[in-house]
Amino acid sequence: MLRKLTASIFWAFAAASTSLPSAAQSAPEISLARIDCGTPVLNDVSARFSDTYAYNDLKVLFTYSCYLIKHGNDYLLWDTGHSMSAGAPAPKVSIVDQLAQISLKPEQIKFVGISHYHADHTGQVAAFPGATILIGKGDWDGITAPKPNAGANVAPFAHWISGGGKLEALVGDKDVFGDGTAVIINTPGHTPGHHSLLVRLKGMGNVLITGDLSHFHENYESNGVPAFNYHRGDTLASLDRFKKAAANLKATVIIQHDARDVTKLPAFPAAAK
Ligand SMILES: [Zn+2]
Repeated sequence: MLRKLTASIFWAFAAASTSLPSAAQSAPEISLARIDCGTPVLNDVSARFSDTYAYNDLKVLFTYSCYLIKHGNDYLLWDTGHSMSAGAPAPKVSIVDQLAQISLKPEQIKFVGISHYHADHTGQVAAFPGATILIGKGDWDGITAPKPNAGANVAPFAHWISGGGKLEALVGDKDVFGDGTAVIINTPGHTPGHHSLLVRLKGMGNVLITGDLSHFHENYESNGVPAFNYHRGDTLASLDRFKKAAANLKATVIIQHDARDVTKLPAFPAAAK
Protein backbone atom coordinates (compact mmCIF):
# COMPACT_ATOMS: atom_id res chain seq x y z
CA MET A 1 0.00 0.00 0.00
CA LEU A 2 2.76 2.36 1.08
CA ARG A 3 4.80 1.26 -1.90
CA LYS A 4 1.86 1.89 -4.18
CA LEU A 5 1.34 5.36 -2.68
CA THR A 6 5.05 6.20 -2.98
CA ALA A 7 4.97 5.10 -6.58
CA SER A 8 1.96 7.24 -7.33
CA ILE A 9 3.59 10.25 -5.65
CA PHE A 10 6.70 9.62 -7.72
CA TRP A 11 4.70 9.58 -10.92
CA ALA A 12 2.83 12.70 -9.88
CA PHE A 13 6.17 14.48 -9.39
CA ALA A 14 7.55 13.09 -12.62
CA ALA A 15 4.50 14.34 -14.48
CA ALA A 16 4.80 17.76 -12.82
CA SER A 17 8.51 18.11 -13.56
CA THR A 18 8.19 17.03 -17.18
CA SER A 19 5.35 19.49 -17.67
CA LEU A 20 7.40 22.44 -16.38
CA PRO A 21 9.78 22.88 -19.33
CA SER A 22 6.95 22.64 -21.86
CA ALA A 23 4.93 25.19 -19.89
CA ALA A 24 7.93 27.54 -19.93
CA GLN A 25 8.36 27.00 -23.65
CA SER A 26 4.73 27.82 -24.32
CA ALA A 27 4.84 31.10 -22.29
CA PRO A 28 3.59 33.59 -24.86
CA GLU A 29 5.87 36.19 -26.34
CA ILE A 30 4.74 39.68 -25.31
CA SER A 31 5.67 42.81 -27.22
CA LEU A 32 4.54 46.44 -27.36
CA ALA A 33 4.77 48.67 -30.43
CA ARG A 34 3.68 52.25 -31.00
CA ILE A 35 1.54 52.93 -34.06
CA ASP A 36 1.29 56.46 -35.38
CA CYS A 37 -2.33 57.58 -35.23
CA GLY A 38 -2.27 61.21 -36.31
CA THR A 39 -0.14 64.08 -37.55
CA PRO A 40 1.49 66.01 -34.66
CA VAL A 41 0.07 69.43 -33.81
CA LEU A 42 1.71 72.22 -31.78
CA ASN A 43 -0.91 72.91 -29.13
CA ASP A 44 -1.29 76.08 -27.07
CA VAL A 45 -2.26 74.34 -23.82
CA SER A 46 -3.10 77.57 -21.98
CA ALA A 47 -6.45 77.68 -23.74
CA ARG A 48 -8.14 74.39 -22.76
CA PHE A 49 -5.72 72.22 -20.86
CA SER A 50 -5.71 73.80 -17.39
CA ASP A 51 -8.78 74.54 -15.28
CA THR A 52 -6.55 76.51 -12.87
CA TYR A 53 -5.08 78.84 -15.50
CA ALA A 54 -1.64 77.30 -14.91
CA TYR A 55 -0.18 78.18 -18.29
CA ASN A 56 0.21 81.58 -19.88
CA ASP A 57 1.82 80.72 -23.14
CA LEU A 58 2.90 77.09 -23.10
CA LYS A 59 2.98 75.26 -26.42
CA VAL A 60 3.34 71.47 -26.39
CA LEU A 61 3.77 69.23 -29.41
CA PHE A 62 0.87 66.78 -29.29
CA THR A 63 1.24 63.42 -30.98
CA TYR A 64 -1.44 60.81 -31.58
CA SER A 65 -0.47 57.32 -30.54
CA CYS A 66 -2.00 53.87 -30.69
CA TYR A 67 -0.29 50.74 -29.42
CA LEU A 68 -0.14 47.13 -30.54
CA ILE A 69 0.32 44.47 -27.88
CA LYS A 70 1.25 41.00 -29.14
CA HIS A 71 0.54 38.12 -26.78
CA GLY A 72 1.54 34.90 -28.49
CA ASN A 73 -0.73 34.82 -31.52
CA ASP A 74 -3.28 37.20 -30.02
CA TYR A 75 -3.26 40.96 -30.54
CA LEU A 76 -4.65 43.87 -28.57
CA LEU A 77 -4.83 47.25 -30.28
CA TRP A 78 -4.94 50.09 -27.76
CA ASP A 79 -6.88 53.08 -29.15
CA THR A 80 -7.55 53.78 -32.81
CA GLY A 81 -6.46 57.41 -33.22
CA HIS A 82 -7.84 60.01 -35.55
CA SER A 83 -9.88 59.08 -38.60
CA MET A 84 -8.26 59.48 -42.02
CA SER A 85 -10.64 62.41 -42.66
CA ALA A 86 -9.83 64.36 -39.47
CA GLY A 87 -8.22 67.29 -41.29
CA ALA A 88 -4.84 68.60 -40.11
CA PRO A 89 -4.25 65.95 -37.41
CA ALA A 90 -5.39 63.06 -39.65
CA PRO A 91 -2.84 60.24 -39.92
CA LYS A 92 -0.68 60.01 -43.05
CA VAL A 93 -0.98 56.21 -43.01
CA SER A 94 -3.93 54.28 -41.60
CA ILE A 95 -3.55 51.73 -38.81
CA VAL A 96 -4.57 48.97 -41.24
CA ASP A 97 -1.81 49.97 -43.69
CA GLN A 98 0.75 50.15 -40.88
CA LEU A 99 -0.27 46.67 -39.68
CA ALA A 100 0.21 45.43 -43.25
CA GLN A 101 3.89 46.40 -42.93
CA ILE A 102 4.21 43.59 -40.37
CA SER A 103 1.90 41.29 -42.38
CA LEU A 104 -0.99 41.64 -39.93
CA LYS A 105 -4.56 41.73 -41.18
CA PRO A 106 -7.30 43.63 -39.33
CA GLU A 107 -9.12 40.34 -38.60
CA GLN A 108 -6.09 39.19 -36.59
CA ILE A 109 -6.74 41.90 -34.01
CA LYS A 110 -8.64 40.06 -31.28
CA PHE A 111 -9.24 42.99 -28.94
CA VAL A 112 -9.48 46.74 -29.43
CA GLY A 113 -9.09 48.58 -26.13
CA ILE A 114 -10.46 52.13 -26.08
CA SER A 115 -9.09 54.53 -23.48
CA HIS A 116 -12.09 56.84 -23.94
CA TYR A 117 -14.70 57.97 -26.44
CA HIS A 118 -13.08 61.13 -27.86
CA ALA A 119 -12.58 61.34 -31.64
CA ASP A 120 -8.76 61.24 -31.52
CA HIS A 121 -8.89 57.78 -29.87
CA THR A 122 -11.77 56.20 -31.74
CA GLY A 123 -11.40 57.44 -35.34
CA GLN A 124 -10.43 54.14 -36.98
CA VAL A 125 -12.30 51.65 -34.79
CA ALA A 126 -14.68 50.73 -37.62
CA ALA A 127 -11.73 49.13 -39.48
CA PHE A 128 -11.80 46.28 -36.92
CA PRO A 129 -15.35 44.88 -37.05
CA GLY A 130 -14.24 41.40 -35.97
CA ALA A 131 -12.51 42.58 -32.80
CA THR A 132 -14.00 42.54 -29.32
CA ILE A 133 -14.16 46.14 -28.12
CA LEU A 134 -13.07 46.72 -24.53
CA ILE A 135 -14.35 50.10 -23.32
CA GLY A 136 -15.31 51.58 -19.97
CA LYS A 137 -19.00 51.19 -19.17
CA GLY A 138 -19.28 54.88 -18.38
CA ASP A 139 -18.09 55.73 -21.88
CA TRP A 140 -20.21 53.07 -23.56
CA ASP A 141 -23.27 54.42 -21.75
CA GLY A 142 -22.28 57.91 -22.97
CA ILE A 143 -22.01 56.68 -26.58
CA THR A 144 -25.30 54.78 -26.54
CA ALA A 145 -27.44 57.28 -24.61
CA PRO A 146 -30.43 58.72 -26.53
CA LYS A 147 -28.59 62.04 -26.22
CA PRO A 148 -24.90 60.99 -26.30
CA ASN A 149 -22.41 62.69 -23.98
CA ALA A 150 -20.67 65.80 -25.31
CA GLY A 151 -17.46 64.73 -27.06
CA ALA A 152 -18.54 61.10 -27.52
CA ASN A 153 -17.61 59.94 -31.03
CA VAL A 154 -20.66 57.81 -31.78
CA ALA A 155 -20.60 57.17 -35.54
CA PRO A 156 -17.64 54.75 -35.82
CA PHE A 157 -19.26 52.45 -33.23
CA ALA A 158 -22.38 51.87 -35.37
CA HIS A 159 -21.42 48.20 -35.96
CA TRP A 160 -21.29 47.52 -32.21
CA ILE A 161 -24.26 49.74 -31.30
CA SER A 162 -26.37 47.66 -33.72
CA GLY A 163 -25.29 44.48 -31.93
CA GLY A 164 -23.24 43.30 -34.93
CA GLY A 165 -19.94 43.21 -33.07
CA LYS A 166 -18.64 41.90 -29.76
CA LEU A 167 -18.12 44.42 -26.98
CA GLU A 168 -17.37 44.31 -23.28
CA ALA A 169 -18.29 47.38 -21.23
CA LEU A 170 -15.77 47.43 -18.39
CA VAL A 171 -16.86 48.35 -14.88
CA GLY A 172 -13.34 48.10 -13.40
CA ASP A 173 -9.98 46.73 -14.50
CA LYS A 174 -9.69 44.13 -17.26
CA ASP A 175 -6.88 41.56 -17.39
CA VAL A 176 -7.05 41.14 -21.15
CA PHE A 177 -5.16 37.85 -21.59
CA GLY A 178 -5.79 36.48 -18.09
CA ASP A 179 -2.12 36.36 -17.07
CA GLY A 180 -1.52 39.94 -15.92
CA THR A 181 0.61 40.92 -18.92
CA ALA A 182 -1.87 43.50 -20.25
CA VAL A 183 -4.31 45.08 -17.83
CA ILE A 184 -6.72 47.85 -18.76
CA ILE A 185 -6.94 49.87 -15.58
CA ASN A 186 -9.88 51.92 -14.46
CA THR A 187 -8.91 55.61 -14.38
CA PRO A 188 -12.19 57.54 -14.69
CA GLY A 189 -12.44 61.31 -14.72
CA HIS A 190 -11.42 62.68 -18.10
CA THR A 191 -14.51 60.82 -19.31
CA PRO A 192 -16.88 58.73 -17.15
CA GLY A 193 -15.35 55.40 -18.21
CA HIS A 194 -11.77 56.42 -18.98
CA HIS A 195 -9.11 53.68 -18.76
CA SER A 196 -5.31 53.46 -18.95
CA LEU A 197 -3.15 50.45 -19.85
CA LEU A 198 -0.49 48.45 -18.03
CA VAL A 199 1.79 46.22 -20.10
CA ARG A 200 4.32 43.96 -18.36
CA LEU A 201 7.24 43.10 -20.63
CA LYS A 202 9.99 40.60 -19.83
CA GLY A 203 12.83 42.78 -21.08
CA MET A 204 11.71 46.40 -20.81
CA GLY A 205 9.72 45.80 -17.64
CA ASN A 206 6.45 47.46 -16.76
CA VAL A 207 4.93 50.15 -18.96
CA LEU A 208 1.97 52.33 -17.98
CA ILE A 209 0.20 54.16 -20.81
CA THR A 210 -1.96 57.07 -19.70
CA GLY A 211 -4.70 57.33 -22.27
CA ASP A 212 -5.77 60.94 -21.65
CA LEU A 213 -5.60 60.72 -17.87
CA SER A 214 -2.95 63.34 -18.51
CA HIS A 215 -2.05 64.92 -21.86
CA PHE A 216 1.49 66.24 -21.29
CA HIS A 217 4.36 66.16 -18.77
CA GLU A 218 3.63 69.51 -17.09
CA ASN A 219 0.05 68.52 -16.25
CA TYR A 220 1.09 65.02 -15.16
CA GLU A 221 3.72 66.33 -12.78
CA SER A 222 1.46 69.01 -11.25
CA ASN A 223 -1.81 66.98 -11.19
CA GLY A 224 -3.18 69.49 -13.67
CA VAL A 225 -6.71 68.96 -14.96
CA PRO A 226 -7.92 70.17 -18.37
CA ALA A 227 -10.81 72.62 -18.59
CA PHE A 228 -12.68 70.00 -20.64
CA ASN A 229 -12.98 67.15 -18.17
CA TYR A 230 -15.92 65.07 -16.99
CA HIS A 231 -15.20 64.77 -13.26
CA ARG A 232 -12.34 66.64 -11.57
CA GLY A 233 -12.40 64.59 -8.35
CA ASP A 234 -12.28 61.29 -10.24
CA THR A 235 -9.38 62.54 -12.37
CA LEU A 236 -7.36 63.47 -9.27
CA ALA A 237 -8.11 60.09 -7.65
CA SER A 238 -7.15 58.31 -10.87
CA LEU A 239 -3.89 60.28 -11.10
CA ASP A 240 -3.13 59.24 -7.52
CA ARG A 241 -3.75 55.57 -8.30
CA PHE A 242 -1.77 55.70 -11.55
CA LYS A 243 1.25 57.40 -9.98
CA LYS A 244 1.32 55.00 -7.03
CA ALA A 245 1.10 52.02 -9.41
CA ALA A 246 3.89 53.52 -11.53
CA ALA A 247 6.12 53.90 -8.47
CA ASN A 248 5.37 50.43 -7.08
CA LEU A 249 5.87 48.75 -10.45
CA LYS A 250 8.89 50.93 -11.36
CA ALA A 251 7.03 51.44 -14.62
CA THR A 252 7.97 53.49 -17.63
CA VAL A 253 5.14 56.03 -17.94
CA ILE A 254 4.09 56.94 -21.46
CA ILE A 255 1.83 59.97 -21.90
CA GLN A 256 0.08 59.16 -25.15
CA HIS A 257 -0.21 62.70 -26.49
CA ASP A 258 3.21 63.98 -25.42
CA ALA A 259 5.65 63.88 -28.34
CA ARG A 260 8.51 63.78 -25.82
CA ASP A 261 7.43 60.22 -24.91
CA VAL A 262 7.43 58.78 -28.43
CA THR A 263 11.05 57.61 -28.19
CA LYS A 264 10.36 55.62 -25.02
CA LEU A 265 9.41 52.82 -27.42
CA PRO A 266 11.35 51.73 -30.52
CA ALA A 267 10.14 53.18 -33.83
CA PHE A 268 7.56 51.05 -35.63
CA PRO A 269 7.70 48.36 -36.90
CA ALA A 270 10.13 47.54 -34.09
CA ALA A 271 8.52 46.61 -30.76
CA ALA A 272 9.64 46.61 -27.14
CA LYS A 273 9.86 43.14 -25.59
ZN1 LIG B 1 -6.77 62.50 -26.78
